[in-house]
Amino acid sequence: MSIETPVDREGISQGLLHHSPFTEEEDEFRELVRTFLDREIEPIYQGLATDSESRHKVWKQAGEAGILGATVPETYDGLGMSPIVNMILSQEMARSHCYGTVGSLFCTDLATGILLDGGSPELIREWAPKIMAGEAIQAMAATEPEAGSDLLAMRTTATPDGDDFIISGEKTFITNGDIADIVYVVAKTDPAARGKSMTMFLVDPNAPGVTRGKLKTMGFPAGNTAELHFDNVRVPASHVLGGLGGAMRLLMHSLAFDRLQISARALGQAELAFDMTLQYAKDRRLFGQNLFDFQNTKFQLASLKTEIEVGRAFLHEMVRKVRSGTNTDTEAAMTKLWVCEMSGRVLDGCIQLFGGMGFSDEMPISRIYTSNRVLRIYGGTSETMKQSIARAL
Ligand SMILES: Cc1cc2nc3c(=O)[nH]c(=O)nc-3n(C[C@H](O)[C@H](O)[C@H](O)COP(=O)(O)OP(=O)(O)OC[C@H]3O[C@@H](n4cnc5c(N)ncnc54)[C@H](O)[C@@H]3O)c2cc1C
Repeated sequence: MSIETPVDREGISQGLLHHSPFTEEEDEFRELVRTFLDREIEPIYQGLATDSESRHKVWKQAGEAGILGATVPETYDGLGMSPIVNMILSQEMARSHCYGTVGSLFCTDLATGILLDGGSPELIREWAPKIMAGEAIQAMAATEPEAGSDLLAMRTTATPDGDDFIISGEKTFITNGDIADIVYVVAKTDPAARGKSMTMFLVDPNAPGVTRGKLKTMGFPAGNTAELHFDNVRVPASHVLGGLGGAMRLLMHSLAFDRLQISARALGQAELAFDMTLQYAKDRRLFGQNLFDFQNTKFQLASLKTEIEVGRAFLHEMVRKVRSGTNTDTEAAMTKLWVCEMSGRVLDGCIQLFGGMGFSDEMPISRIYTSNRVLRIYGGTSETMKQSIARAL
């Protein structure tokens, strides 16, 4: 029995109910991502250090492979692709063995949307080429120790001072926060106001007054979830994105796509876990037969496969809606809620079929299981999704 079952790339995007919503160009992008992950990341991910230098090296490789910043418009020398490519990148990362160890890594392109939506042409021209080349790693910092789901309770302030703003506060659980070259920081220009004064700033995390550190997390042993402290950090007014008080608008726009991206990741993880479990069930011998031959195993696998296909159909419908511009935030919340909960059920069923081996950290399935849990928490918890759906009822 192999510890690392080779990733079966066949039929990933198709599934059983195949009416692909993806364009030929998007299929080519998927192929590009798969080739990059298989050739460059799979062989090295277990030794991939979390330090900035090693990470920047693989980011540059990703840039050279052409998988970063694909949504940058052609006017800024980008590919001008739909945010659908972020779902593809996310699903393919999650379909690879490296995901359980390194986490979402390259999937911060949602942050590119914030720059494109809210940045001046000068800022976009300065940063977009570096983002596409993998020379600038991005992070988006909204969450604080006392403000996650209740984001409006955030305490980070931005006080005007001449042509600048002075930012002070604390952010936590920020993906790629400790290695980022640019951080989009949300701060209040008027601490008494809730949402209306929340403003997005492009901040240089190497500026005086910024300190940052990696957090230890349940999954992603080689991931980069970080906390950042801002102590009187000076930021020029030209680095305000989306205008004063414009952070919520930028966040709402990017979060709708973030939810679909996370759903695609949840689907990818469920697919990978299912393939590994099917293979294990066919290899594992007990009571003189293969694990697969027990009726319980077949029924379990049949149920899990059906769940995955329902999730895929839901997600593919959302891809069609994004393309036709008919997608809604409520549907994005429903997709995240259902597909991430489904992925959790699938992972739990898979681990059970692995028995004790499922609990061993030598098996990728255990790392997928631990890294899967966060899908129901970040990008808005399942409860927050329900609230958002209920509001529209
Ligand atoms: C690995 C990881 C990466 C992350 N990356 C980023 C990032 O890049 N940038 C960023 O800004 N943030 C990031 N986050 C933060 C993430 O978005 C928050 O953790 C998430 O929004 C939940 O907020 P919280 O942790 O403060 O939990 P809380 O808001 O404290 O929630 C605690 C519990 O209360 C529940 N709850 C919330 N509202 C209600 C309600 N109205 N009724 C009943 N129950 C409720 C929640 O569902 C949850 O079960 C990341 C988090 C993790 C773990």
